Amino acid sequence: MANVLVVEDDLRIRTAVARALGDRGHAVGSAPTGMAGLAQAVEQPPDLVLLDLGLPDVDGLEVLRMLRAVSQVPVIVVTARDDDVSAVRALDAGADDYVAKPFSAEQLDARIRAVLRRSGTGRAAVEPIVVGGLVIDIPARTTALDGQELSLAPKEFDLLAYLAGRVGTVVTKRELLTEVWHLPYGGADKTVDVHLSWLRRKLGESADRPRFLHTVRGVGVKLVGPPSSSDPSPSEAGTGAPD
Ligand code: CA
Repeated sequence: MANVLVVEDDLRIRTAVARALGDRGHAVGSAPTGMAGLAQAVEQPPDLVLLDLGLPDVDGLEVLRMLRAVSQVPVIVVTARDDDVSAVRALDAGADDYVAKPFSAEQLDARIRAVLRRSGTGRAAVEPIVVGGLVIDIPARTTALDGQELSLAPKEFDLLAYLAGRVGTVVTKRELLTEVWHLPYGGADKTVDVHLSWLRRKLGESADRPRFLHTVRGVGVKLVGPPSSSDPSPSEAGTGAPD
């Protein structure tokens, strides 16, 4: 029920944590390095950051200090087993809580809920994302188009929510397979294509006549709002009138 950013270099752990939190209703973003995590935390502020202390580029404690210089976002650090010293240092540096590896999904989710409760963020703090006539409420997992609620399958919603978190940015199919399907090692582009076409149908558009989902051939797909009727330069796709 929160937007969680997972900063973890171990692909296996990152994927497992993302899947476990996703299954519990959280919207999960992830970054494999400290610097990527920092950039993402600033560009798309999450409700909570899960920060591994053992990162390849910058020490997790240093990432935490840099993050604290610009943000009060709740942070739970992940420490190696029995590393009490790091845990204490992290708490001193502004972490809200810590979990020691290995941890269970239930334990992590409980810590996240407790930290969000204490910090007063979470569900109520997350505003729906509005793109043109499309309103995506990630915590409530609902989507409305032109005031009408859409009935989306879970993966269709996950896909749309992921793109909505990056409006205007081209997202590759590989990234979607990793972040939405949690399939870092495999998965066919066709999986993405099929879900995109289902999603397009529900959004009342097609690949040839896109309204929100624009394919960039050979690169990926991006979510953009349609030009408004007052826009002086409507795109070649049309004037925005439904057809
Ligand atoms: Ca690590």
